[in-house]
Amino acid sequence: MITRRQWLYGMGLIAGCGTQVGRASGAAAANEALPATGPAPLELSQYEPRSMLRVRESRVERSRFPNIDFHTHISGSTKSEKGVELSADREYLGTPQELLAVMDRKNIRAMVNLTGGYERGLAEAVAKYDRAYPGRFYTFTEPSYSGFKEPNYPTLQAQAIERAHQDGARGLKILKTLGLYLRENITSGSLVKIDDARFDPMWDACGQLNIPVAIHISDPIAFFTPTDRFNERYEELNNHPDWSFYGGDFPSNAELIAARNRLIARHPKTQFVAVHVGNFAEDLQNVSENLDRFPNMSVDLAARVGELGRQPVTARKFFDKYQERILFGTDATPHGDDYPQQVFNDQLYEIYYRFLETNDEYFDYAPAKIPPQGRWRIYGIDLPDSILRKVYFENAARLLRL
Ligand SMILES: [Zn+2]
Repeated sequence: MITRRQWLYGMGLIAGCGTQVGRASGAAAANEALPATGPAPLELSQYEPRSMLRVRESRVERSRFPNIDFHTHISGSTKSEKGVELSADREYLGTPQELLAVMDRKNIRAMVNLTGGYERGLAEAVAKYDRAYPGRFYTFTEPSYSGFKEPNYPTLQAQAIERAHQDGARGLKILKTLGLYLRENITSGSLVKIDDARFDPMWDACGQLNIPVAIHISDPIAFFTPTDRFNERYEELNNHPDWSFYGGDFPSNAELIAARNRLIARHPKTQFVAVHVGNFAEDLQNVSENLDRFPNMSVDLAARVGELGRQPVTARKFFDKYQERILFGTDATPHGDDYPQQVFNDQLYEIYYRFLETNDEYFDYAPAKIPPQGRWRIYGIDLPDSILRKVYFENAARLLRL
């Protein structure tokens, strides 16, 4: 006997069996419809599902209040080896003119160029951007690691911070070099720990000069697990195998965070901005506990809108509680097309604004066909004006002493 449901299915009238239309009706035909082998296997990289969800799509072209992008990379070292930057000379990823055009369109009052380097490279970057366009660019210095083996390196590096400050540096940036790349013989030997005492005078110098330290340690927790079928960032690690810190002599994420915490505890007069949401956006409970412990710690949002936006309820509470200590930042890199989550363009900023200012649902966290940091989408958290003002501008302005 053919039931009504089987009949409808055979006629292609039940959703999901449109391929049946035009074929012979009846239960038998329905069973024959698919070949015994099923559909051909599909490469993961070829899979580009289009969401069928119909929800509101807002476009936020300008941030509601002027913002400071606290985390950008306008310049970089011309030479690095095994993850350690070894040259004072800078290469520039975008001209001031092309950056200013986007900044004016997107309501970006200023960009903080974290990777300004040191010595002549720093002075040149400050002259080209900060001094040429006052109030639009702020450049940070970085440690010079090439002299790390010299016995008086701790003092020299502290003095270098003072000179950099005189040359116009507004803060110190630490890339994840410390803890993951710098070794006893610079590029060989055992890894140097984040809280190595040889850097103590440098952290203190920043405290005395009242300039913030933007510190990047660790990476998404998935980078510390095998690149296998269980890894939620499998495609990202597959595209960038050198981003994996699984195996070898790499410390665990927990060890890196513990070392950073010891450092922050030991230098209470130095302001630390733990970038990328305290480098643990997957665990806001952990970030919250550390913010509670360390009054001299803040965080930025850079390249973690994908993590925050997939936990909108927790993220919204986090912004509420720590509204004085969260800084707007994107990790924007001009022409960084290989890293859509941080490519400097209009679309990137619109995604951040949409996340912060709307309660839109299920949208892309990066301007890319395939989500580059894991296959999920995000939700907006609809912050009130009072919090937006702090996150977009006031918190950064306070730390930079504008
Ligand atoms: Zn960065």
